[in-house]
Amino acid sequence: MLLRDLLKHQGVAFSCEFFPPKSDQGEANLWDCLQELRVINPAYVSVTYGAGGSTQDRTRRIVERIRTETDLSPVAHLTCVGSTREDLQRLLDQYQTSGIENILALRGDAPEGVGSFEAMDGGFAYASDLTSFIRDHGGFSTAVATYPEGHPESKGGVEDDIRYLKLKQDAGADAAITQYFFDNDSFFRFRDAAVNAGVTIPLIPGMMPIGNYAQIVRFSAMCGATIPDWLHAKMTPVADDLERVKSMGIELATEQCAALIAGGVNDFHFYTLNRSEATIAICQNLLGSDQ
Ligand SMILES: Cc1cc2nc3c(=O)[nH]c(=O)nc-3n(C[C@H](O)[C@H](O)[C@H](O)COP(=O)(O)OP(=O)(O)OC[C@H]3O[C@@H](n4cnc5c(N)ncnc54)[C@H](O)[C@@H]3O)c2cc1C
Repeated sequence: MLLRDLLKHQGVAFSCEFFPPKSDQGEANLWDCLQELRVINPAYVSVTYGAGGSTQDRTRRIVERIRTETDLSPVAHLTCVGSTREDLQRLLDQYQTSGIENILALRGDAPEGVGSFEAMDGGFAYASDLTSFIRDHGGFSTAVATYPEGHPESKGGVEDDIRYLKLKQDAGADAAITQYFFDNDSFFRFRDAAVNAGVTIPLIPGMMPIGNYAQIVRFSAMCGATIPDWLHAKMTPVADDLERVKSMGIELATEQCAALIAGGVNDFHFYTLNRSEATIAICQNLLGSDQ
């Protein structure tokens, strides 16, 4: 089903993001994880797209496997990195043939150690260009990324991000999934400003349950997510006790989601990091059941 239709639902819905594993064992774990997550009935599941060629093939293989072997709705992440229009056209044709209907269109980042992103000759420089290319191809529903605290490269801060989000909507995006954040006020401010700028597509908060605090500090420095002082003060004393961190992470994410629901949010996208436990616990807390 097309993403734009999957998002027309009553009540609160969840989606889950995975990365394509590198080993058979990793793939077996992913399959277990997908099975376990069925208890929260994900509206869709998305698979990330790496910078290198083999990683890109893995994304295609995994979304196609999800499509043929489960009744989950897969969303394939797709970036502009290392691809010409012809490459992208070929991949979209393949997706269409195999019944993949939903794409998360991204610019992507340079592969590790390669410096900053540079558009390929004959490729695209921005996610908005890729989004309109997908719209012109036809047959897909497209989501894009957005950044309530600003993308690390945005020179004009959050205002730039809102302008580019509107460009992506105008290019055909049906929804935008956010970078994770821990301060709900930054999301609400961003949402209000986006609506004022004419953004009408759903803004879906990306949720990152904290399972390993040191890792979250590292990720956040790279992607520009702020760690509020209150969170740092809570997590620092327990950072070495992984079980404690996990249970506090579940508790904090449940509270964060509950406050977002109170502020009118109906869709949540979980960065699962190929683990199901925290996402299931948070969603079950929110649904108030142990289904
Ligand atoms: C939900 C989500 C999923 C992700 N999945 C992946 C993944 O699978 N693989 C991966 O490699 N990365 C992924 N990323 C990371 C993403 O690729 C990076 O954040 C990347 O740096 C920007 O991608 P974008 O699509 O937001 O780019 P863009 O929207 O193109 O923005 C990139 C930069 O250019 C600026 N900009 C945008 N449009 C214009 C314009 N017209 N003129 C001038 N400047 C402009 C923006 O402000 C920003 O600074 C994901 C991010 C999110 C939030």
